[in-house]
Amino acid sequence: MTNETWGLVREELIKRVGRNNYVTWIEPLRLSDLNGGVARFEVPTTFFGDWVSRNFADHIRAQLNTSGVSVDRVEFAVGQSARGQKGQGRAAAPAAPVAAAVSAAKPATARATAKPRAETEEMPGAPLDSRFTFDSFVVGKPNELAHAAARRVAEGGPVTFNPLFLYGGVGLGKTHLMHAIAHELQTRQPHLRVLYLSAEQFMYRFVQALRERQVMDFKEIFRSVDVLMVDDVQFIAGKDSTQEEFFHTFNALVDQNKQIVISADRAPGEIKDLEDRIKSRLQCGLVVDLHPTDYELRLGILQQKVELYRQQYSGLVIADGVLEFLAHRITTNVRVLEGALTRLFAFASLVGREISLELAQDCLADILRASDRKLTIEEIQRKVAEHYNIRLSDMIGPKRVRNIARPRQIAMYLAKQLTPRSLPEIGRRFGGRDHTTIMHGVRKIEELMATDSQMSDDLQMLRRQLQG
Ligand code: ADP
Ligand code: MG
Repeated sequence: MTNETWGLVREELIKRVGRNNYVTWIEPLRLSDLNGGVARFEVPTTFFGDWVSRNFADHIRAQLNTSGVSVDRVEFAVGQSARGQKGQGRAAAPAAPVAAAVSAAKPATARATAKPRAETEEMPGAPLDSRFTFDSFVVGKPNELAHAAARRVAEGGPVTFNPLFLYGGVGLGKTHLMHAIAHELQTRQPHLRVLYLSAEQFMYRFVQALRERQVMDFKEIFRSVDVLMVDDVQFIAGKDSTQEEFFHTFNALVDQNKQIVISADRAPGEIKDLEDRIKSRLQCGLVVDLHPTDYELRLGILQQKVELYRQQYSGLVIADGVLEFLAHRITTNVRVLEGALTRLFAFASLVGREISLELAQDCLADILRASDRKLTIEEIQRKVAEHYNIRLSDMIGPKRVRNIARPRQIAMYLAKQLTPRSLPEIGRRFGGRDHTTIMHGVRKIEELMATDSQMSDDLQMLRRQLQG
């Protein structure tokens, strides 16, 4: 089985296990070997492997067999490359193989169904995720504009801006908002022909139409919709004939005053290899960006998800501070945040324990490591100076009076504890002091902590503030 086939199988698995489970458990799997009817996958942690094996092994095996890969058993093991992956954005990385799979592997199975689809004139859109509604979308500062614009389009009134162009980094809610628009429009105006698909699917359909000499059908279908939504349009950059067709489709719909909603991972002007005429067309409507999440939004999203999970896993107890901890530490994107929560709940229900801070740290070690904030010595100096009400310059300066030297030693101690810097490196940041001076400072504070409870309280608080 090639990776393309696995890509295709994964696509099918979305339908079987649901998007949430898919993103959390299936997407991170790496096919490592297929031999003698045994498919082996790499997983990031042992727990992960256990969970997938208990809950999804049958689905995976069945789907492999359905897709013509005969497999008796699937196995999961913690693997080398899975380890190497942790440092990167976990959500973004696994998407690529699927993307490749759609164009490379789909034709074989799709060909059989292509005819009836054209005959019944079924809309060639992608299925909508029923969970992506406005109700489940948490609004905060970073996304309020995008949300308001999406709401406006979803009202289905006269077209006031065309297209609506939503952009922002991965996992910030672009797809969620687009599905929400589609759901809302379909509820309010069931007669509307709303077509949602990814740019990649647009390309795939187009290429298929070319190959099967059904370009006229293709044009007709796409030009007869009332609302067209194309997700991740950056995908067609550099794909010339697809861009061309997209441009014509786009113009035809705009001319008929049909609403278009587009998303991309960056602003229209910043998409490389996208034709200028398309860029300028895309900029004609309303361009809004989704900003990276802030702490409040992340916490809001977590709280909302917890409510949902409570219905699923009854008797679940979450200790105070766990959600705050996650919102603070997992800053990459919402998808990772959700994945963390899903895993945490699964784990807690498996072992029947309350979700404590400790359990969260254990169970999510890989995710937390990947999104670790890098604390700098500068930040530590600043914080400590502020706390003891001395000047930042005194941290690196030569003064030796106790009320300055002591805070300086505290900062040295924290720098040693909270950053990976070596003693000589720390010395350099403290005005070029020798590493033995730093060592002396660190020891001094360790001693004091053992005897001076005020000192140890102070340090605990500083540490908490610095680490969040
Ligand atoms: P994008 O398309 O921008 O990469 P998605 O729309 O796929 O991101 O969002 C990733 C995940 O995060 C989805 O499960 C989505 O429901 C969730 N999500 C993102 N933003 C929000 C939000 N503001 N409120 C609730 N869930 C959100
Ligand atoms: Mg998306």
